[in-house]
Amino acid sequence: MANSDSGASSNNYSFKVVLLGEGCVGKTSVVLRYVEDKFNERHLTTLQASFLNKKLNIAGRRINLAIWDTAGQERFHALGPIYYRMSNGAILVYDITDEDSFQKVKNWVKELKKMLGSDICLVIAGNKIDLEKQRNVPIEEAEEYAKTVGAKHFQTSAKLNKGIEEMFLDLSQRMIERAQENDLQKASELGRSSSMRRNVVVVDDEQAAETSTSKLTCCGSTT
Ligand code: GDP
Ligand code: MG
Repeated sequence: MANSDSGASSNNYSFKVVLLGEGCVGKTSVVLRYVEDKFNERHLTTLQASFLNKKLNIAGRRINLAIWDTAGQERFHALGPIYYRMSNGAILVYDITDEDSFQKVKNWVKELKKMLGSDICLVIAGNKIDLEKQRNVPIEEAEEYAKTVGAKHFQTSAKLNKGIEEMFLDLSQRMIERAQENDLQKASELGRSSSMRRNVVVVDDEQAAETSTSKLTCCGSTT
């Protein structure tokens, strides 16, 4: 599904985005706020679908986001690569009042880099900024860390609908850029391999020419 119709030549992009982070940091709330503009005070244990679709338009480009939320498996440490494979983007969520949840984000970044390399666009979301008074993760520390791993850092509140739209927009723009870079790279690789084929032909010709020349010389010297 991911990338199926993405590409610089087309105006349609499909991206898979996964949400990762400790239980209760607000992953489901962030997705529901973004896709359905709803918020629930209660912890939402189950989701009907494993992903929700969101369509958006950026500068005339049509983007379809498949946003994957966990069904709570993270609490049993049972979120494997099957969940995040083929993702174009990941949103790593922590709760600004919970230092532990920020450490979990660091673990997720490590795992994603190990499994997917730097192909994936990363966003780190410090959620629940409406609880600023109970903040336990210094904003400077989080932003500094995000920079070191090439991620963008956003401050969000699913409750107050803060920062969420901007975060998905920024991520989408970066995923488009990444898809375009990949397409350019593929095109140049194709170009390289066809010129390599030409080189091989040229080498063959030279060899043939050399052989015939030496044959001629050989013949010439013997006759
Ligand atoms: P998940 O386990 O990461 O999917 O977390 P949930 O989305 O189920 O949210 C866990 C709890 O945090 C719920 O009680 C939510 O109402 C609450 N919550 C989520 N986002 C926010 C937020 O921005 N501010 C506040 N104050 N509570 C939030
Ligand atoms: Mg959830």
